[in-house]
Amino acid sequence: MRRKLAAGNWKMNGTTAALSELEALTRAFPSPTVDVLICPPATLLHRAAEAVRGTGITVGGQDCHAATSGAHTGDISADMLVDAGANTVILGHSERREDHDEQNEDVRAKARAAMDAGLKAIICVGESLEQREAANTLEIIGGQMSGSIPDQSTGENLIVAYEPIWAIGTGKVPTLNEIGEVHDFIRARLERRFGEGVGRSVRLLYGGSVKPSNAAEIFGVSNVDGALVGGASLKAADFSGIVEALEKT
Ligand code: PEP
Repeated sequence: MRRKLAAGNWKMNGTTAALSELEALTRAFPSPTVDVLICPPATLLHRAAEAVRGTGITVGGQDCHAATSGAHTGDISADMLVDAGANTVILGHSERREDHDEQNEDVRAKARAAMDAGLKAIICVGESLEQREAANTLEIIGGQMSGSIPDQSTGENLIVAYEPIWAIGTGKVPTLNEIGEVHDFIRARLERRFGEGVGRSVRLLYGGSVKPSNAAEIFGVSNVDGALVGGASLKAADFSGIVEALEKT
């Protein structure tokens, strides 16, 4: 059985005051029946980890460097994320692929480092609108998976997030059939590469304009094991609606 996961990505949002949202979330879900993860900016990570200590909620990073240490000004290693209290890291988000020109091999190297450090890696894949309109979605996702997911992946350390770029922060969401088609494809690819046991145990998240109002129907789609949520994870009230929908799935 795959345990459901509601993951929030705060991106470059939040200073000290935002920790009150996390505290509100811990009060709303003292013992969640699904995994609940918040990935705040690195500056808040340690305090966020303290805020959720002893609750069923965990915290993660939004990126890490592929090296364990060294002359990489401004970067953060996987070990540093662990040290700050993270158990997971988001890698290959489309904003990092675009803003920092991250390629699949960069994401794979970061994922290796994350897994070596004992972190779970949420590896993001997704097509642009142009690629979808050209009917290239599955080819793009397949290529991103082959290039970004390391061989050492297991059902424990790998989570794949399908995030169509055109759905992120836009309010646009693919149809349920389109989500199902991609998630079934990702599952089949994982089973082919890693074998049925591992392939079936990796959790698959959908991300892109998930809100309390559309969460339940998205969670009803086959092979959707939860969501990676941007905007609607910033406020405890909104994210709570999504966690509740996942708990009822
Ligand atoms: C994201 O950036 O991962 C995301 C899914 O954002 P949003 O929920 O705001 O579309």
